[in-house]
Amino acid sequence: MSECVFCRIVAGQIPSTRVYEDDLVLAFMDIGEVNPGHVLVALKPHAENLFALDDAQTAAVARASARVARAIRAAFEPAGLSVYQANGAAAGQTVFHYHVHLVPRHDGDGMAFTWPVNNPPREQLEAHAARIRAQLA
Ligand code: AMP
Ligand code: ZN
Repeated sequence: MSECVFCRIVAGQIPSTRVYEDDLVLAFMDIGEVNPGHVLVALKPHAENLFALDDAQTAAVARASARVARAIRAAFEPAGLSVYQANGAAAGQTVFHYHVHLVPRHDGDGMAFTWPVNNPPREQLEAHAARIRAQLA
């Protein structure tokens, strides 16, 4: 079994709240309590970060990210969207499997929702993801 948490998510060995999927990409809700509303757009094959991607993988993540971004806009009408990624430990990467963060912004730094402290946000995650999925259908 892979030790990479995102490889295990892609393989279905760790549950995730799925937003979007195609041949090369899986998008799912970030479960980190400090990251409410983040959608993670991950490359399915293991590649550590942008430095390791080929052109087809780069294009696939960009295309999927834009599609999911438009669905987030249609679902939540945020004032804006931050798109970021960390490449390498020195840059702040903590999961070494390539992914992009999509972060809807409301009134500057506000998120689409907040999570109760110490309360697993499964229902909120699923409700949030369902609204995005509905815009992708
Ligand atoms: P980074 O720090 O940019 O590498 O992003 C890694 C992200 O993955 C963090 O925002 C974590 O909260 C998130 N994360 C870690 N494990 C999981 C998981 N099992 N399901 C969803 N998100 C996760
Ligand atoms: Zn991996």
